[in-house]
Amino acid sequence: MTKRIGVFVCKCGMNIAGSVDCEAVTEFARTLPDVAFAANNSYTCSEPGQAEIKKGIADHNLDRVVVASCTPRMHEPTFRKTIEEAGINPYLLEMANIREQCSWVHLHDKAAATEKAKDLVKMSVARARELEAQTEAVVPVTRAAMVIGGGIAGIQAALDFAENGYKVFLVEKEPSIGGLMAQIDKTYPTMDCSI
Ligand code: SF4
Repeated sequence: MTKRIGVFVCKCGMNIAGSVDCEAVTEFARTLPDVAFAANNSYTCSEPGQAEIKKGIADHNLDRVVVASCTPRMHEPTFRKTIEEAGINPYLLEMANIREQCSWVHLHDKAAATEKAKDLVKMSVARARELEAQTEAVVPVTRAAMVIGGGIAGIQAALDFAENGYKVFLVEKEPSIGGLMAQIDKTYPTMDCSI
């Protein structure tokens, strides 16, 4: 089935536009298969930037979106919410990191950085083509945990679980807990007895 992918290229002020030709990347995106619309703007995560995404979705009947901007660690939740508000499943989003992986690391070679940005966008569009809508499920969780090993790490993990309301089963093969820590006479820097 034909997809209608929208590509939005962010300039991030001069953060990206300073070393990537965003117009050229946008033009290139328009030539990719299944791309129905491509545009660029100054700050895609801003209110006006997100409004442009929503308008692009409505005007061009887009069914998935690629945002070429910064790391998804920063704004993937932002753009998922944006496209969801425009009526698209939030998991039909792909991002191309043309800032941290491109403009910032190729600051002084605009031609090469632009070519790399095109490649990153091309790969994201290819991934976007294969995306499927997802639903988030809420499932019951058994609030119990088994910690294997009663050394200092296991004891601390068991205490952390217990403090968070989990029933804990601490399993230790030796007759007593404490592990290597229990064999140490004193610990630095307080010189306390370790037992
Ligand atoms: S989306 Fe990322 S790259 Fe674009 S303006 Fe916002 S922070 Fe900068």
